[in-house]
Amino acid sequence: MFTLISLPYSVDALEPVISARTLEFHHGKHLQGYVDNLNKLIAGTEFENMSLEEIVAKAPAGPIFNNAGQILNHNLYFTQFRPAVATVPAVPEPVEGPLLNQIATQWGTLAAFQKEFETKGATLFGSGWVWLQADANGELSIAHYSGADNPVAHGLKPILTFDVWEHAYYLDYQNRRPAHLAALWDIVEWKVLEERYIGK
Ligand code: MN
Repeated sequence: MFTLISLPYSVDALEPVISARTLEFHHGKHLQGYVDNLNKLIAGTEFENMSLEEIVAKAPAGPIFNNAGQILNHNLYFTQFRPAVATVPAVPEPVEGPLLNQIATQWGTLAAFQKEFETKGATLFGSGWVWLQADANGELSIAHYSGADNPVAHGLKPILTFDVWEHAYYLDYQNRRPAHLAALWDIVEWKVLEERYIGK
């Protein structure tokens, strides 16, 4: 049985980047729906006692993969943010770490990385996710995948993801997906990304 994760911040903490109304629907309705669906789909199957990562790696394309993937993706998404309060710098803190060092090595500047990430998210046709992912050697790449697909299904480690399904931004940004993606940097918690990169 999978359960809905708790948000590590209050429902209005990400305003104005993500409104409380969007967060209530996105977490409380959309993600809850995927959790309920998956629990029904895996009852009595070989997937019943697997982790989300195992299900995503082993399930064929179809409803079980889609619902498990969406739970995994949203769990990573919702736990990578921190409140956009005035006392926190709007630009990501220049914290030292292996991830930011690797980004500097591969992209030169954080801004160049962010631009490519936003473009990759803006150019995914339809619903899906844009990812920063790492291979076993720590080499980074940016990719977008449709639907519920994710780096885990491709043998890669997920580091950062922006949700480009319309339910993630439509109430706040309507059709302005690029504006939403650009705003998300204000709430990214880089310490979490560094921990994911080094495998904590
Ligand atoms: Mn979503």
